[in-house]
Amino acid sequence: MNTYHRLLKRQLKKADLDAGTLRLIAPFLLQVNEAYTTFDSDLQQVEGILEKSSQELFQTNQQLKNNIESISGQLSKVAGNIKDVIFEMDLDGNWSYLNPAWYTLTGFKVKDCLGKPYHTFLRDDQGKPYTNLINLSSPNFKTLSKIFKSQQLDGKHKWLDFSLKVIKSEKGQNEGYIGTIVDITKIKETELALIEAKEKESHANKAKDEFLSTMSHEIRTPLNAVIGISHLLLLENPKPEQLENLNTLKHSSEHLLCLVNDILDFNKIASGQLELEERDFNLGQVLNGLQSIFHNTAKEKDLRLIIKKDTTLPKTFIGDSTRLSQILTNLVSNAIKFTEEGKVSVDIEAIEESKNYCVLEFIITDTGIGIPEDKKDKIFLSFAQANSDTTRKYGGTGLGLAICKQLLELMDSELHLESEVGKGSTFSFKIKLTKSTKADYKEELNIFDVSAIHQQDNLKGVKILVAEDNKVNIMVIEKFLSKWQVDYDIAENGLLALNKTLENTYDMILMDLQMPVMNGFEASKAIRESNNPLHKVIPIYALSASTGMDIKNQLWEYGIDGLICKPFNPTDLFKKLIGILHQKYIH
Ligand code: ADP
Repeated sequence: MNTYHRLLKRQLKKADLDAGTLRLIAPFLLQVNEAYTTFDSDLQQVEGILEKSSQELFQTNQQLKNNIESISGQLSKVAGNIKDVIFEMDLDGNWSYLNPAWYTLTGFKVKDCLGKPYHTFLRDDQGKPYTNLINLSSPNFKTLSKIFKSQQLDGKHKWLDFSLKVIKSEKGQNEGYIGTIVDITKIKETELALIEAKEKESHANKAKDEFLSTMSHEIRTPLNAVIGISHLLLLENPKPEQLENLNTLKHSSEHLLCLVNDILDFNKIASGQLELEERDFNLGQVLNGLQSIFHNTAKEKDLRLIIKKDTTLPKTFIGDSTRLSQILTNLVSNAIKFTEEGKVSVDIEAIEESKNYCVLEFIITDTGIGIPEDKKDKIFLSFAQANSDTTRKYGGTGLGLAICKQLLELMDSELHLESEVGKGSTFSFKIKLTKSTKADYKEELNIFDVSAIHQQDNLKGVKILVAEDNKVNIMVIEKFLSKWQVDYDIAENGLLALNKTLENTYDMILMDLQMPVMNGFEASKAIRESNNPLHKVIPIYALSASTGMDIKNQLWEYGIDGLICKPFNPTDLFKKLIGILHQKYIH
């Protein structure tokens, strides 16, 4: 019994059992005694572990404290060395902390500012306290980020980037503000200088564009006379010795016109002014146009011109058909120009098709002189030709391919070339075109589509009013109109044109746009608005040396049906006038 655990002993004493019972339950008591002893030793072990853990906890805690102290020491060192201002502010907008950068930025000592309102020290660009920089009274105010110009103590200005954020307590209440002030004067000045330089550049560009457009107008007007008169003289049975000179005159003036047009187009694309149109068009009509432009030139050179498209292609697409025609015209014109015998072919195939779009590949192949390997990159540059004697031999400006390349880039495409000297060249490009929902869409009769003209068509007796102020242009157009036996009237300004329409009935009006007294736009509008119902439908076409997109867009606003560009080739003009009459009588 003496060897039992003290708690068992205490309980046996309380139970006061006789010796016989004790002997009887002795084995059981031994087991209980063992359980008590084991429990004791377990308890000691747990106590040991607890003690150890609390010691470790204490040490970790101590280490953490040391770390925090060292981090906050480092932080205040960082804040002290940082170039930007770091601050804290109470809810009333008084500075409660400012790092040393504050002094460098403002010239105010930190200790003189703490506890005082921010605006006593932050000035606006006039040097007045910036009282309404922060709207502290707004209940939802959370953050602020503002860039402003501030006048400094020395009267100079600095650009400051000021940001601030509300500090919240654990319970979510606003306790104050924390923020930064960064001196961004250098960045801002660079930015302003850049903006200024850009503005200057765009001014200069605008001036260049205006210059180009005025120059082109000025050049086209006399060119109109030169081209017109050379055509007229050629039609008047010149002597054989005059014929060559007249042909040179005609070709040179037409070449000059191409050059002016190309330079204008090139400039427009290069300066990003060219926007592609998104309109329904009929691919077949574009190809017919191409065929009719080049049919005669190919025939004159005894070349076969074969234009074919995949017969399964949809008829209509949405895109810029004028620019697509321009690319094809350039490539086919080159192919014919640089080919002496054989053929020029244009193939169009669909290489990808989905419900809404088609990727078309255009392949223009010739059996001409070919392009040497080392010139293949060069010819895509502006004003570049493969050989120095090309201009002499074939003419051209060296701008055509550069324009094609840029137009295709605008259409997210590129121009490919494969060529072998002496065998020929293949230019190809792929464009993705949206399918038009107007499956049978037919463009209005295109007055420039010469296939609509018949041999027997003539302008005899047709009444045309021409509004034109330039004496030379009047002389040229009068000669053509008389030759075609047109019954014409000339009005030398818009107002005279308007008056003439009130007195006479015309089949169409050709309207110069830039005229004294009343310009062509105003005159057209006034004619459309007059009481005569015929004036609502009479074809009015602008006859102008300006071809800018802005002009084309304005035409509709003033009720003008279309634009005929000066200078015009008389044969083209004849066909266009016939086209306009066709259109008039079809409607
Ligand atoms: P241009 O035809 O007005 O000279 P382009 O930019 O259209 O200007 O063409 C540049 C040059 O590329 C041409 O002068 C010619 O040397 C070469 N070139 C273009 N197309 C062909 C072609 N189909 N065959 C041979 N040479 C070509």
